[in-house]
Amino acid sequence: MKSIDPYLDKIANKKMLVVFPHPDDESVMAGGIIQRAMAWGFEVTVLTLTEGNRGKIFVNGRGRSVSEIRRQEMAEAMSRLAVMDWVMWKFDDGKLRRTKKWQERLATFIKDTQPGVVVTYDLSGVTSHPDHISASLVVLRVLRKMTGVNLLWVSFEGRMKEKIVDKRTAKYLHKPTLELNMTIFEARRKWRAVFAHRSQALGGFLRSSWWLLMFFARKEWYSEAKFKAKQRYKFVPFRI
Ligand SMILES: [Zn+2]
Repeated sequence: MKSIDPYLDKIANKKMLVVFPHPDDESVMAGGIIQRAMAWGFEVTVLTLTEGNRGKIFVNGRGRSVSEIRRQEMAEAMSRLAVMDWVMWKFDDGKLRRTKKWQERLATFIKDTQPGVVVTYDLSGVTSHPDHISASLVVLRVLRKMTGVNLLWVSFEGRMKEKIVDKRTAKYLHKPTLELNMTIFEARRKWRAVFAHRSQALGGFLRSSWWLLMFFARKEWYSEAKFKAKQRYKFVPFRI
């Protein structure tokens, strides 16, 4: 597998747009590439489509709404990753598949941002969450009409694949072609950003703590989207 560094180096337009539906997706999926891109001189924008307000909350909210809690956690995650430019929209968490308004807005946002590279889910949605698949579909549709924009899809291998990828949609996950090896410092920042999303109790989902992950989860994988190829996907029943 090739290293992601020459790939990032050769992109002339040093503007990266990271698009995910929910707060925490960006850190779990792309916390490494966000840092590495900045090291290569990229300006990074992180766009989150919803406030994750359907997410379960495992902390005492002290009267704050789920949206408020998650927005604050996102701010902390972004500060841990040193991302200055992040935007969080308020579209309906869990309902992207059935709603349209966000699609137009996302198309406009991508065109206005003029990225050299976009990072998002592939059509497997990784966890098979319908919002993930829907976001992936729209990003792909928009980029197919643009020229000169690279699209990177997150992917997984080995133990992380076991932990994160839904077996029902695993066959739609594109095999990675690019690999990012995080330094221990990058891994530390990534996993601390992930765990800034405290309300999500991700330690349970990942079956680990951030300080173990910092040693043992130091890779991210990506596949380069092929715009011309026909892409297959499938929505499966998902409990939100
Ligand atoms: Zn998500």
